[in-house]
Amino acid sequence: MTANTIPLKAKEYKSDIKPIWCPGCDHYSVLNAITKAMSALQLEKRNVAIISGIGCSSRLPAYTDMYGFHGVHGRALPVATGLAVARPELTVIAVGGDGDGFSIGGNHFLHACRRNVNFVYIAMDNEVYGMTKGQASPTSPADWDHSKLAPHGPQIKPFQPAAIALASGAGFIARAYSGNPNAMAKMIVEAIEFPGFAFIQALSHCITFCPEQSQWKDIVRPFDQEPTGDPVVAAQRIHGDDGFSAGVIYRNPRPCWPVEVLDASGRDRIGSAVETLSMEFQL
Ligand code: SF4
Ligand code: MG
Repeated sequence: MTANTIPLKAKEYKSDIKPIWCPGCDHYSVLNAITKAMSALQLEKRNVAIISGIGCSSRLPAYTDMYGFHGVHGRALPVATGLAVARPELTVIAVGGDGDGFSIGGNHFLHACRRNVNFVYIAMDNEVYGMTKGQASPTSPADWDHSKLAPHGPQIKPFQPAAIALASGAGFIARAYSGNPNAMAKMIVEAIEFPGFAFIQALSHCITFCPEQSQWKDIVRPFDQEPTGDPVVAAQRIHGDDGFSAGVIYRNPRPCWPVEVLDASGRDRIGSAVETLSMEFQL
């Protein structure tokens, strides 16, 4: 909680930079949800860092008045991992799109779930590469035929972010919808307060290249069950759903990495962690 005596409003967590997203893009709602969550928690701006890769959604850090890093395509999660390990007192939030997170950065997604470093990852999923003018992404429906590069659709079963997150070991898995930014803000608060890696798939429609996604407002509904800590129940829930139920699906805390002990050689946890990360990412 902040030491300020005057509570910060959500809009005070935004920068003066006007977003260049298309009018009607759902990413505006994700920005609103994040800043609402910041205000609800009254986090000090200097103690929050928003990390992104490349893509329409990855522009988001510039639109906030907190620390940010707009990095390399698909590499938001390694940067967020390193920052959260080196500065565990910070609230670290990685943001990005479905192409950035599940294709170019797909390997990092698996290992972020597995490693369980304490930060939040919000994947703004619109089932398309928006910034590069509408190519099929890993989450595009198999018959999505709007792109000249795939005139008959990608003809590949879409990537299932929640199922992959569960199989990879994520302890907090949720699905949000941009059409309900208040519910998304509440979910972001829960994700920040979760002790470990917290993944939110944020359905965020691209009005320009996927206008049909405006139907989501009639399709998305809340999960009719409370979050479970049982991975078998979570798997049944995820696979028994059409991908349009929103809510916290799975919540099962486990020890974060790096563990809070000195290793056998007596090195400190940060030194050991940075060394391990350096080897893994070939820094
Ligand atoms: Fe949003 Fe799509 Fe426009 Fe990108 S192309 S800003 S995702 S509406
Ligand atoms: Mg996308």
